[in-house]
Amino acid sequence: MSKRYSTYLFLGAPGSGKGTQGVTLGSLPTFFHCACGDVFRRLDVRTPLGQTFLSHSSRGELVPDEITIQLWRESIDAAVSAGRFKPDIDRLLLDGIPRNVRQAQLMDEIIDVKRVFHLSCPDREKVVARLKKRALKDNRLDDANEEVIRRRLLAYETESKPLLDHYGDSLITHIDATQPPVKVLRDILDLVVREDSASAA
Ligand code: AMP
Repeated sequence: MSKRYSTYLFLGAPGSGKGTQGVTLGSLPTFFHCACGDVFRRLDVRTPLGQTFLSHSSRGELVPDEITIQLWRESIDAAVSAGRFKPDIDRLLLDGIPRNVRQAQLMDEIIDVKRVFHLSCPDREKVVARLKKRALKDNRLDDANEEVIRRRLLAYETESKPLLDHYGDSLITHIDATQPPVKVLRDILDLVVREDSASAA
């Protein structure tokens, strides 16, 4: 790899709105959104990899790191080959990956993290309510069961939150994810526009 992909990361608990913001920003020119959970959900569950995903996700656990990074990389490579992701002009928007420090280390040689948007939602009951609503709407088995939801939140606290220290304060922007989605988007866009203007100056 000659040049690392210019990347914005969305970090936040399940249900904090990473996907909504990623899809929205990703619909604009010069952005490409990739949600790792979607990459997994597109797998054929009859395949060994699909079965591995199902057995972990149905318990609210993370899929092992090496398998995850390999699959994610294949998905990004396919997007580049198909011309959906144009690394020379697009920013990569990652949601749901890296999910722990080990994954971040494995990805270091591939992505150049320009900023981490931490979608903060300290009210866990709000998150649980959002996940249950989504489970019904999107047919997400892992969010239909309260015990699985609690384990997903625990995995976030213990495995994903340490990423905040890994990337450090200078790269992180904390966003209040309890706001309505349009306001969350405005906060993200403010920052993106400011950084774009600074790099153009
Ligand atoms: P998500 O839609 O991001 O909440 O992901 C749904 C499920 O997919 C998770 O609970 C994990 O089982 C699996 N998954 C998604 N992204 C990752 C990742 N980066 N590392 C490991 N497992 C993941």
